[in-house]
Amino acid sequence: MNDLLKMRHVSVAYHTYNGVVQSVREVSFSIKEGQTVALVGESGCGKSVTAKSIMGLIKKPGQVSKESEIIFAGTDITKLSPAKLRKFRGKECSMIFQDALVSLNPTMKIGKQIIESLDNHMPELSKDVKRKRAIEMLQMTGIADAEQCLGKYPHELSGGMRQRVMIAIALITHPKLLIADEPTTSLDVTIQAQILKQMKILQKQMGMAIFVITHDLGIVADVADKVIVMYAGKIVEEGECREIFYQPIHPYTKALLNSVPKLNVTGKQMLQAIDGSIPDMTNPPKGCAFCDRCPYAMKVCAKYIPEERSASDTHKASCWLMDERAGRRRAENGKA
Ligand code: SF4
Repeated sequence: MNDLLKMRHVSVAYHTYNGVVQSVREVSFSIKEGQTVALVGESGCGKSVTAKSIMGLIKKPGQVSKESEIIFAGTDITKLSPAKLRKFRGKECSMIFQDALVSLNPTMKIGKQIIESLDNHMPELSKDVKRKRAIEMLQMTGIADAEQCLGKYPHELSGGMRQRVMIAIALITHPKLLIADEPTTSLDVTIQAQILKQMKILQKQMGMAIFVITHDLGIVADVADKVIVMYAGKIVEEGECREIFYQPIHPYTKALLNSVPKLNVTGKQMLQAIDGSIPDMTNPPKGCAFCDRCPYAMKVCAKYIPEERSASDTHKASCWLMDERAGRRRAENGKA
């Protein structure tokens, strides 16, 4: 599979009255055609800002650094003019958000909202063809009474139905990449599973890549080929889904996995919260940003940012524990 998206040294900063918030710091990763990649981390770690940077949606006071490269199908979207960027958005790459009720226009019928996307990107199609496509797309997202749905307002639909409508709007132009930012967070667990299953079915039918952004590692296991773990604006671990779930390396990834509720245990073991909070990103720590919360922190961690090291061709992490000298020190101190 070819690379569809290549992010190289992408940094995004927000200039505020309290200082410069370094939301995304030198992030590099890629997404292949047809692949599902999940970006995981706590709220405020830079996930949504990363997604917005791909869509060219960083607005002032936010700024993408000059060194950043966001190459989509061979084109650096950071260099596109506003007009070309508008064409790219929705046609090549679409995004769905957490809260469909906020994202949909409450005063406009569903049909008009879906067809509007075709008006923008495929104006050559006739009115009848656009309507037919809208009905087909709603049916593909699992809405049985699609024709009736066209005439309804968002508030007349359930949360799950609204999210399906959002998916229909995002996919009606057959984009190469669908970005789903916490797509099921506001839904109950059964509907979450249905929506994610439907997204995977549509992915197979349409051959697109999916970039899922979530704080919940639980939903990732069923959908992702590759998982990227982000903390304080940086990628701390990246690997195939099975590598992240069965051989996690970074203490933050392990803590995230422990924070997923388990069914076969009771008491404290069932749900382990991660103590502490993300550092102040107007003044990020000099060394590893997880240092204050990490049970394995060493002196070197507070002083120097760990380099990225590979555990396999597909699995890499940034943690001083991967340095062979850390193993020796721990053995000397009787911790190994
Ligand atoms: Fe913990 Fe140090 Fe690894 Fe950071 S570099 S995660 S502080 S062991």
